[in-house]
Amino acid sequence: MKCWNCGKETDDKWLYKRSYCEECAAVLAKQVSIDQVEYWRLKNKMMIERAVKRIEDSTDNIHPIEFYKPAIKVVSNYTDAHPTAFASTEEALTAIILVANKIRAKVQYRILNFRVDFLLPDLHTVLEIDGKQHNKYKDSKRDLQILYKLGKGWEIVRIETWEVNLSPEELPHTILEERLKKEEYRQKHGDTLAVEIAEVMEQKQLERDNQKKVKEIDEKFGKDPYGFGF
Ligand SMILES: [Zn+2]
Repeated sequence: MKCWNCGKETDDKWLYKRSYCEECAAVLAKQVSIDQVEYWRLKNKMMIERAVKRIEDSTDNIHPIEFYKPAIKVVSNYTDAHPTAFASTEEALTAIILVANKIRAKVQYRILNFRVDFLLPDLHTVLEIDGKQHNKYKDSKRDLQILYKLGKGWEIVRIETWEVNLSPEELPHTILEERLKKEEYRQKHGDTLAVEIAEVMEQKQLERDNQKKVKEIDEKFGKDPYGFGF
């Protein structure tokens, strides 16, 4: 084959895939990693620009735009260090609003095997920015496991992306309001959280017990690989 880039003869025999000589392959790999950094930089830059535009375009008019300037800088610097931190414009927008309102937040926080969009330690709240939900007050199995891990007094609040875009400056208020609604829903439905968590944990315990059994059997069979008692 000829090198796709410079035309020099290579040792490759295939016909259906581009071939590169050693020198060109090295140059190309370097260029790809440079492009990737540039891609994320521009992607985040445009995402933050869209987020700021949405604050400007909203009719909330609670704070002058100057109020958000330091927060925009903080979030922008954060994306430089963590290019994949925000999956959407709404998440970046939420980050700006949280920082500007001095609501401490951990981004993409890991709980058990899950990642949550924002953990707000002072509000004892997990904040998820989601698309449309069927029932944003009912806890999924995932939510129950997260709540069990976080302990009593924590809630998972889901805010839909359209709400973030419609009224970004109202977000701190919306978070508290949604948290209350979630507590009310829980009370109205007989505070089943403890029961539901117990069920999920019981299931987890069963899985763990089964894994333990399998491991015990594996260990026994390890000594006797055929398992026929020879
Ligand atoms: Zn070449």
